[in-house]
Amino acid sequence: MKILIVNAGSSSLKYQLIDMADESTLAKGLVERIGMGGDGHANMKVDDQVVCDVVEPIPDHVKACHLMLGFLTDPEKGVVKDMKEIGAVGHRVLHGGSKFTESVVIDDTVLDAIAENIPLGPLHNPANLMGIKACQEVMPGTPMVAVFDTAFHQTMPPKAYMYGVPYEYYERLHVRRYGFHGTSHRFVSRHAAEFMGKKPEEVKMITCHLGNGSSLAAVAYGKCVDTSMGITPLEGMIMGTRSGVMDPAVIQYICNNDHISVDEMLNICNKKSGLLGISGLSNDMRDIEKATFVDNNPRARLAWDMLIYEITKYIGSYIAGMNGTDAIVFTGGIGENTNRLREQVIDGLSWMGIAIDHEKNAAMRPGHAEDTDLTAEGSRVKILVIPTNEEIAIARDTLELVTKL
Ligand code: ADP
Repeated sequence: MKILIVNAGSSSLKYQLIDMADESTLAKGLVERIGMGGDGHANMKVDDQVVCDVVEPIPDHVKACHLMLGFLTDPEKGVVKDMKEIGAVGHRVLHGGSKFTESVVIDDTVLDAIAENIPLGPLHNPANLMGIKACQEVMPGTPMVAVFDTAFHQTMPPKAYMYGVPYEYYERLHVRRYGFHGTSHRFVSRHAAEFMGKKPEEVKMITCHLGNGSSLAAVAYGKCVDTSMGITPLEGMIMGTRSGVMDPAVIQYICNNDHISVDEMLNICNKKSGLLGISGLSNDMRDIEKATFVDNNPRARLAWDMLIYEITKYIGSYIAGMNGTDAIVFTGGIGENTNRLREQVIDGLSWMGIAIDHEKNAAMRPGHAEDTDLTAEGSRVKILVIPTNEEIAIARDTLELVTKL
């Protein structure tokens, strides 16, 4: 079966068509500047070469879906003859709240539940819904599945997901930790167990998804027991542009001093902070690494040091929380490609008898990560790099659910 994966944002839509016979990507593409006035942009790549490229007004997600399907079924450049060859669509949905503990086939009840969670995911859930509804309109009759970023984390115990504010906020407003990147943490943790020759139920591990957005998860015997992101993706370590966790009073202090609203301040915390805010240079780890180690830029060095320190502290706390771990797994653009970061983080855990094979780590070529065991001889804990593939994870869930229909 061929499965289309859709990740709809408020003004963009990313897609990928996967042939489940061998899990190969037949085509992928992006539609940008949807509904922003002026021209939008849509493309499709096959084998990483752009084969379709259009610049024209794209007023809404329905138009975006028409463009996507037009590319996929294009008589010359397309990869399927007819839309009917696409057996199902898997949608990435940000916030499933407490309702969704796993992926589901989309029906009206599911649409209502995603809408109910809009207050928890005000930026993403409305966009995800628009993407689903647009696909339903242009592909009537094709089964659709929702895969939630939050679902894998729903096994966390209350002691890990509750915040220390009065309990009524949990009851009345559902205030709690939800966690994100769940599809990646699930994919990588299962894969890591398999790579270790074990079943997920036999091992404890810490999965470090480090990208432009970063989160760690403590996964004990196949189940998530803690994660660093919170009610929104803002909590955790510093990220590309996010501040990560801090004393909430910082927000009040800056708002009162600079006469800005909480919304404005949260925008600063989400979009202008983290590596970008500290270095004043860039949110991209490649720039931060070069500025730190080649140009000797002190603020880039500070951003680098903060990130290493925070990741190391989180790993330490999860080792304590799970009373041990069998593996530490790196994934995401940074986790897979920034060799020096892996080295410094693991070197910071040497007291616990955890060690990385420095030579093997240094020999990994950025941009070509594959499943790799970087454990040094004698280390108590395995150090692994497992490249994430959220699209394949979504496609597998979609296939499993639609074959049961
Ligand atoms: P997102 O959270 O947007 O999915 P990614 O997982 O793609 O982000 O990670 C982006 C980060 O990975 C950037 O900070 C980038 O600098 C870093 N990175 C380091 N080396 C590479 C590389 N060779 N290819 C891609 N990203 C890299």
